[in-house]
Amino acid sequence: MNEKKKLSLPVLIVIALVAGIVCGLLMMNHVEFAVTYIKPFGTIFLNLLKFVVVPIVLLSIICGVMSMEDIKKVGSIGGKTVLFYMCTTAFAISIGLLISNLFKGSFTVLETSGLEYEAAEPVSFMDTIVNIFPSNAFAPMVEANMLQIIVIALLVGFGFVLVGEKAAPAKVVIESLNEVFVKVMDMIIKLSPIGVFCLITPVVAENGAAVIGSLAAVIGVAYGCYILHMVVVYSTLVKIGSGISPLKFFKEMSPAMIFAFSSASSVGTLPINLECTEKLGVHKEIGSFVLPLGATINMDGTAIYQGVSAVFIATCFGIDLTFGQMVTIVLTATLASIGTAGVPGAGLVMLTMVLQSVGLPLEGVALIAGVDRIFDMGRTVCNITGDAACACVVNAMEDRREARKAAKAAKAE
Ligand code: ASP
Repeated sequence: MNEKKKLSLPVLIVIALVAGIVCGLLMMNHVEFAVTYIKPFGTIFLNLLKFVVVPIVLLSIICGVMSMEDIKKVGSIGGKTVLFYMCTTAFAISIGLLISNLFKGSFTVLETSGLEYEAAEPVSFMDTIVNIFPSNAFAPMVEANMLQIIVIALLVGFGFVLVGEKAAPAKVVIESLNEVFVKVMDMIIKLSPIGVFCLITPVVAENGAAVIGSLAAVIGVAYGCYILHMVVVYSTLVKIGSGISPLKFFKEMSPAMIFAFSSASSVGTLPINLECTEKLGVHKEIGSFVLPLGATINMDGTAIYQGVSAVFIATCFGIDLTFGQMVTIVLTATLASIGTAGVPGAGLVMLTMVLQSVGLPLEGVALIAGVDRIFDMGRTVCNITGDAACACVVNAMEDRREARKAAKAAKAE
């Protein structure tokens, strides 16, 4: 009975996605209706997920660190995670640049005269680093600033470990609050099929025609790269690093991937991603540390999108990117991804920074801004799948480390 219940949610989400696409196509002439009456329900659902993400991330990381009872272990997991994220992101953007250069002949060169685009204030790399550290205990929670929340959770977790016995009563409170919020999250996730339907219908109704238009080739190349990166890079890493078969990995991940596709938000997908990785055998304490970090700093899909868009914009302006410029793009996009929030449309803002770093005209962003949501849905799937792949690999590495430690201890006895 229970088993049947568990199986039905992903199936329902797929049905909702297909129904949403069909409804969106049928409503292409009634976009206003879809946007006014269907989209708000999707927004309510997304808001609920965003609301639960802050207490979940805060409490689950504190609980994770408390249960590790060893600050060294947190450092070891953190180091592996950040290294994995940086390397895969740099690889992703290289794939994006390489493939889009191969296919740039197929891009429709769009008219660039008369374009206007107001770029957002770029944030410098040093400012990004400074912004990781909170100056107030509550503001990060009010603003849902995930990186700062992670820092607070780590520090409080360390505090619990160092205080030990005296912190026991507070530990019980934190653990039981965590249970309560996990339950709240469960209730919200049960609404996913409705949320997915209401999120995807207006997107298809609004953008359906644009996909068939002149941007089809660039969108096709970006999606080709997302899929290539997921199928080749993540499959290989997951297989070699954790022994999980790629088929099983993608099967278990499908609810999170579908949800990311319809919501275009890594942070919103976090609760579902936590559930999916748990089914793949990732320990709670590792998932609740690696995934929130990934939803905030790891954006492989966004990096691919930036590579593809940079080549497309350069082509439209009749500019050939040099090898040096491409290396600069790889570095800028990898570092910039740390400062990007896992919310819809964030990658577009980052694109201006990448274009700026190699002197490409910022107005080029206007060429793709209209259909950004379509790029965004795919890149978010890639972003969250990368986080999950990292969780599986780090989880297996930690298991092996623990096993080695235990064997050493047994030998010493
Ligand atoms: N929407 C993406 C995410 O949440 C970020 C982006 O815009 O690229 O992961």
